[in-house]
Amino acid sequence: MHIAMVSAECAPIAKAGGLGDFVQGLARELARCGERVEVILPAYDGLRLASSDQPRPLGIAFQVPFRGVPIDCQILGLSLDGYECRLIAPRSAQRFFERGRLYGEPDDAERFAFFSRAVADYVSRSESRPDVLHCNDWQTGLAPVLLAERREALGRIPVCYSLHNVGYQGWVEADLLTAVGLDPARLLTPERLADPGDPRRANLMKGGIAAADVVNTVSPRYAWEIQNTEQGMGLQAWFQRHDYKFGGILNGIDETVWNPLTDPLIPVDFGPETLPRKALDRQALRARLGLEEASDRPIIAVVSRLDRQKGVDLIAHGLQYGLASGAQIALLGSAIEPAIAERFAQLKSRLETSPHARLELGYDESLAHLIYAGADLILIPSLYEPCGLTQLIAMRYGTVPIARRVGGLADTIQDANYSSAPFESRNGYLFDEPTTEALEGAMDRAIALWRDHPDYFSRLRLNGMRGDYSWRRPAREYLDLYAYARQAQCARASASSRR
Ligand code: ADP
Repeated sequence: MHIAMVSAECAPIAKAGGLGDFVQGLARELARCGERVEVILPAYDGLRLASSDQPRPLGIAFQVPFRGVPIDCQILGLSLDGYECRLIAPRSAQRFFERGRLYGEPDDAERFAFFSRAVADYVSRSESRPDVLHCNDWQTGLAPVLLAERREALGRIPVCYSLHNVGYQGWVEADLLTAVGLDPARLLTPERLADPGDPRRANLMKGGIAAADVVNTVSPRYAWEIQNTEQGMGLQAWFQRHDYKFGGILNGIDETVWNPLTDPLIPVDFGPETLPRKALDRQALRARLGLEEASDRPIIAVVSRLDRQKGVDLIAHGLQYGLASGAQIALLGSAIEPAIAERFAQLKSRLETSPHARLELGYDESLAHLIYAGADLILIPSLYEPCGLTQLIAMRYGTVPIARRVGGLADTIQDANYSSAPFESRNGYLFDEPTTEALEGAMDRAIALWRDHPDYFSRLRLNGMRGDYSWRRPAREYLDLYAYARQAQCARASASSRR
């Protein structure tokens, strides 16, 4: 099958969070299964490329109309490990993808609406046409809409649409639809793109859901939550209405990147058979962060975007509570919102003199690896969590998660004490309410086990390390989903030809 994955991110060259890991991990595994995979990305100026990976012009050029002006685009090709990238490189006054970062620009909606239009034009060329188009998140929500609006000689391209975070839906003004050549009078209706909260505005995710053949989220529990609770962020009824084509598939992690036995970014390799060697990575982590050597203190870590979704109040509280409870704490976090950045900068300077606390503010891939390898516990108190990769990576590295029982965290963590699962499946600590009391209760249980029953704690680590978090099972499920999308598309085409 020729699969084109469209996304605003793809690790390692363009990653801001889990979406980048998802695209890389799934693309690699599908390619390993023998599928032809193409990842379509904006040609950002800040791509993290190895010197041997240089994008090459493919001799494909076309013009993409945007706000009535034709914009010259060319396609650059880049071969990554097992799959191909296609980079959409426009030449225009707006310099859409030459901003030094992926997101956070005032005109993000314009940038990704343009990207979606360029993708729709690119894949509609008969030479580039994939068997299935896999779109991701609000940034690409207009691509299914644009394709559905076309009358294609070859029939419409089947579309799978994955939702990684319903907190960001892409709410835009109606004139952005006109900008990409769509008709707001036809599309800005409750049946299509009109936002339920403000029908004068378009909701790109909502439009993508209506136009796609199959839709999924990245864990079964999150699929249920967004249909049945306020986690649907206003789209609950819309998800229920599209229930017949809607499901959840848990993410995997890329085990070539995240494997403590082979990870080049950690000083000492270890695995389930050599768990005591993890202590050497703990030492290295302490040295790297300037934490005091303290064998009677577990290291409680946080590796996270510092965003409201991640439970920033609980993160800040948990760090201070951990310190007061005799643990060492290490945070690696990046904040976009200035108020949150300021808050954590203040906490950092307040704790600067403690030999048992270190806060690193920013994005640092190699420190993240060292933290997963060296820490004992990791705190993930998310308000909502579509899947979460942090807990999967941490468990692979023998670091036990303390997390809120939501979304993919609930699907992947079995509580050490309160679980009906057999002991071999128990791998962490869960709490329910997003309150400091509930968090403290779970932290107390975890710290007490680490301190009083180290053997039992090691077995918990091992249970986590032995779990299967690979992309093998999810990739098979996506292949089934693509097959279903193709069937649905065929059925739709034959129904409309009978009409
Ligand atoms: P989200 O996609 O919502 O940010 P996930 O748990 O799905 O959350 O994925 C987070 C990914 O980003 C993990 O690979 C994690 O290691 C990485 N990450 C998050 N914050 C940082 C940071 N400050 N520095 C390095 N890596 C980070």
